Amino acid sequence: MQLDGFDVVVVGAGFFGMTIAERVANELGRKVCVLDRRAHIGGNAYSEIDPDSGIEVHRYGTHIFHTNSETVWRYLQRFTEFTSYRHRVFTVARGRLYSMPINLATISAAFGRAMTPQEARLLIAAEADAHVHACGASAAQNLEDKAIASVGRTLYELLIRGYTQKQWQTEPSELSADIIGRLPVRLNFDDRYFADRYEGMPVDGYTAIFQRMLNSANIELHLGVDYFDIEDQIRPDQLVIYTGPIDRFFRYRCGELGWRTVDFAREVHDVADFQGTSVINYADADVPFTRIHEFRHLHPERDYREPKTTIYREYSRFAGRDDEPYYPINTAADRAILSGYRMMMEKRPNIIFGGRLGSYKYLDMHQAIGAALKTFGNEVTAFLVGQQMPSPAAMAG
Ligand code: FAD
Ligand code: UDP
Repeated sequence: MQLDGFDVVVVGAGFFGMTIAERVANELGRKVCVLDRRAHIGGNAYSEIDPDSGIEVHRYGTHIFHTNSETVWRYLQRFTEFTSYRHRVFTVARGRLYSMPINLATISAAFGRAMTPQEARLLIAAEADAHVHACGASAAQNLEDKAIASVGRTLYELLIRGYTQKQWQTEPSELSADIIGRLPVRLNFDDRYFADRYEGMPVDGYTAIFQRMLNSANIELHLGVDYFDIEDQIRPDQLVIYTGPIDRFFRYRCGELGWRTVDFAREVHDVADFQGTSVINYADADVPFTRIHEFRHLHPERDYREPKTTIYREYSRFAGRDDEPYYPINTAADRAILSGYRMMMEKRPNIIFGGRLGSYKYLDMHQAIGAALKTFGNEVTAFLVGQQMPSPAAMAG
């Protein structure tokens, strides 16, 4: 593989890398090459048709598009339309089913009686106060304290503790409070998982978005190529957009960053509907998986005729070096390691680190696209346009 003629080499064909590649090719007309070590485009948003059921599945787990960003929403409209899908999740706990995220229906079901918003607020506040008095927990320092402060002890024990332990394999009292901040708590009957202004599923699936990005521009794509096998070809005047794990880029010199990975166990069932909805969480610590995904429900508008369905059971664990890193764990030790890598990045002016793995940040798809558009408008353009400035000799004519 020859990289000689390219102005920009993008490592990773996920949303971050492909957005930058599309902009560089279409907006600046510069020569860009995208490579990915996987055999497909799309990064973790990749979708494909399951050959046994004919249903479009998300190989790396259910992906729901949602955003409040007008810029990101408008940008994606160039490559896809969206359905009106609205994500709703249920949780099974101790043999009963609850609506998730926690809302008034969840609270009423957990306490076995209809409750008004005011009654629910008082009940949660009483349980939260009791927790503060019992263990002197101050302003929500960790996930456990924050969860009990926002939903009370009963709901925490029922719906959060076991799920979080399984998902993170760490005690909730040792996890950062921000993790639970992602999950809203509502004292009304709004049961939508996301509250963003825009939400939906791409009409033709995620992979079609990436294919259209490629088709819209002059981008050369190389799949099944690991950057570290061609790294020595890169010249200092070429810009690299690196969206792989930061610690791997620097050969783990400052240490390994902590990641969580997930394993999916695929099953095809000879029924038209396995669980009645796209995602059901399993809160009990003794159920080994965290959730079951059933992909047919992501596209109720499609005419899936076969009485077959594909489900994935999701299992969570710490990632080793050879696993796919999914979620940054981000402990204090991780942050110390990261600051070492940040110093090393500053010495590499022609490499831009980005995306979920390259920034060691949990980014949703819209955040990865938003960050890529910003990076394109700032660092990428500055690097490439700076190169195009005529030399003093040329200016003198
Ligand atoms: P990625 O999609 O991970 O792409 C990085 C690419 O770089 C990969 O394809 C990888 O193979 C490649 N790469 C890495 N190293 C190298 C190398 N050395 N050489 C060549 N290629 C390399 N977001 C939402 O908005 N909604 C959701 O519902 C949602 N659900 C999710 C569920 C799960 C289980 C997970 C893990 C994530 C979910 N996300 C969701 C987040 C979403 O997946 C990310 O926002 C998105 O994938 C980020 O894009 P990216 O380009 O930064 O990274
Ligand atoms: N969570 C939980 N029970 C649930 C769903 C979520 O306890 O049924 C907690 C868990 O700690 C999780 C956090 O809320 O890590 C954030 O949930 P989200 O769905 O955003 O997690 P994701 O799977 O996207 O990391």
